[in-house]
Formats: sequence, C-alpha cells, structure tokens
Amino acid sequence: MKRVLFSAPFQIEFEDVANPVRRPGEALLQVRYVGICGSDLHTYRGASTLARYPVVPGHELCCEVLESEGALSPGVTVVVEPLLACGVCYPCRVGRYNCCEALRVLGVQTDGGMAERISLPLKNLHPLPATADPSYGPLVETLSIGFHACKRARVEKGDRVLVIGAGPIGLGAALVAQDKGAEVGILDKLDERLHLAQEVGIDLALRPEDGWQGEVLRRFDGQPSVVIEAVGSPRTLEGAIEVVSAAGRVVFVGWTSESPSWRPDLFLRKELELLGSRNSCGIFPEVIEFYCRHLAKLKRMVTHRYKMERVEEAMRLLDTPGGGAMKVILEW
Ligand SMILES: [Zn+2]
Ligand SMILES: [Zn+2]
Repeated sequence: MKRVLFSAPFQIEFEDVANPVRRPGEALLQVRYVGICGSDLHTYRGASTLARYPVVPGHELCCEVLESEGALSPGVTVVVEPLLACGVCYPCRVGRYNCCEALRVLGVQTDGGMAERISLPLKNLHPLPATADPSYGPLVETLSIGFHACKRARVEKGDRVLVIGAGPIGLGAALVAQDKGAEVGILDKLDERLHLAQEVGIDLALRPEDGWQGEVLRRFDGQPSVVIEAVGSPRTLEGAIEVVSAAGRVVFVGWTSESPSWRPDLFLRKELELLGSRNSCGIFPEVIEFYCRHLAKLKRMVTHRYKMERVEEAMRLLDTPGGGAMKVILEW
C-alpha cells in the first residue's frame, strides 16, 4: 500500500509499504478521507514542537472497516478519535486521557492516517450513521476540538461567548456554543472567514481593528462571559483576559509557545478561570450527533478537495497566506 511521509520541512514523499497487520482489539481500516489540520501544516513547515520526522501525517480520518472483531462489521464507515493514551498516568487515571503525559496523537507523535490502510484500536473508532455523508467525515475530529473547548468553559444558554479566530477550530467552537443556546460573536482578520461565519449563522463577526473591544461590548450589550482563544498568539491571549467579564472563563485552544504578558491583578480582581483545552475527551458520539444535525452548514467549511496524489499541492495552498483555504480534504 501507499503512504505519505513528511520527511523534512517542505518535503513530502510517497512510500510503498506492506499492509498493516491487525492486532487483537483492533480493526483494519481503508482510509477514505483525510482532513488537513493546522497541526499538519506546522509539521510540514518544520514548526511543530511535538512532531518528529519522518512521520505519516493525518489525524482527521474517515475510514471504512475492512476487518474487525466485535460490533464493527466490514463496510461500516467510522471516524477516528486519534489519541493513543498510556492509561496509567494521573490524567489518564482521572479520565482525562486527552492530556495524557505520554500522549501519542496520530500523525504527530506516531504515524497517522495519510496511508491507504491503518489498523487502530476499536475504542478509537466511532461509526458514522449510514445516512451521514462520509466525504465530510473528517470534520468530526475538527469539531471535537471546539466542542471540548465549549465543554471546558461550561457554555450554556445565557452565556455570551466570544471566539477569537474564525478558522475551522474557532468557527466550530462558535457553532457549538450557539447550539448550546449562547449568544455568540467571532473575530478574525480575514474577511472571507468572517463572511463564512455570517453565512453559517454567526451574525456578530468582526475584524479585530482598533476599538474592537468596545464594539464587542456594544453589540453584546455587556462583556462576554466566555472567551475562546483559537488563534494562538500572545496578543489575542492578552485581549481575551481584558475583554472577558468578571467571573468569566477564558479558554485557550490556540497553540503558541510565546509568552503573553498578564496583569495578575486583573485576573484576580475578575476572579477569572483560565482553562487550557487540548484535543477532546470522550465526546465523539455527541460530536457525531452535532455533525449530523448541522451537516448542511458544516459543509461550507470545506473549501478544497484533492486526490491524495496531490497532497503537496494541498499543503502549498494551505501554506500560502491569503490562499483562501479553510478546510481541505484529501481523498484516496
Ligand atoms: Zn487537528
Ligand atoms: Zn496517560
């Protein structure tokens, strides 16, 4: 079978290897659709702090079962929860395997799904209803990130939620928050992303220009009770803490290793909760239900599709500022 290797920064190779062998407790899968995530782009650029070369990228996967045991019969379409946790560390013991101390994410710390076939533990596989379009299946993993961020912030009806960043993760979080009954606003520098947010029902979509904080307060008629930072930049982290209401929650889902400068007195005076949000934990069935209910809207997030042979073209597009790509899906 063929698989894709990221072997060095900006270097992609196709490799011919033997089919994976299914071990007990696993299913052998035919990979059909693979979404490209921002973290795949970081790895492609050589900017990932977690991935090592060479690696088979890809963790947003929709597959068909070829060979299995238990309830999953051959032919069933599944989406993949791409986390392999140790099961014994403290976070694993308290049920938070998404931040396992020895976590291996497919396509990051271990080979992922840009391969024709892959064998994975049954517990990582979630069937997609036969009525749901599998060609958008990789979006389930994308949505799980924003879904988990909303869960961390305990978003509910009556909350005013501001999402910073209208990429696939941020827009997903905004749609989930809206579905939970919150009033939602979103910020982004890119007009095309703001237009898309408005088209899928997030009316309050703003550019973070001078005075954006005042505009958010005016449009929300108050401060947001929750801010979800989905950019990963020190400035937006600082802005999140400034704009959020007292007794509010700030969730960091964007990834950066640069330090923001915080005013500890502001944090204390507002009695804020600062919450990290990494991957997702035990929510794939809920996310699949959300995906099925909102698929017509969610389809708008997929701007480009390529056959896997053209993966290099897809990566170059995503690497181009202003290239217009939102979610790109590859197909074997
Ligand atoms: Zn991802
Ligand atoms: Zn662990």
